Amino acid sequence: MGARGFRRTAASRAVLAVLQGSRGMTARAIHDRLIATGETCDIVTVHRVLRRLSAAGVAYPVPCGSSVGYRLAGPQDPVLQCVRCGVTTPLSGAVTTALAREADQAGFTVGPVVTGHCPDCRRRA
Ligand SMILES: [Zn+2]
Repeated sequence: MGARGFRRTAASRAVLAVLQGSRGMTARAIHDRLIATGETCDIVTVHRVLRRLSAAGVAYPVPCGSSVGYRLAGPQDPVLQCVRCGVTTPLSGAVTTALAREADQAGFTVGPVVTGHCPDCRRRA
């Protein structure tokens, strides 16, 4: 791994540490926190890390005031899971909230997994 790869990994780790325990933070807020704790990464790197975490399903965008924040996906968050191949994708915060509210009105608690068929399996079916 080159110095470049190392910096990328360090930035991911730092962003993950900030997001840990947060209910949603904007890239700007994450960057401010990093700077306050003596990290030297720039806002562009924070955006890049967030896009990567989001693509990997590790974090997902949530509404954060008038802006968009990011929140770590956790076991408390329902995911969509394909019943055929098992691939999962996190549900957005808005969907999660709506689902939990609907379920609560019906006296249900929501399980962590909402099942269905992923795009690949739908194409193959
Ligand atoms: Zn599938």
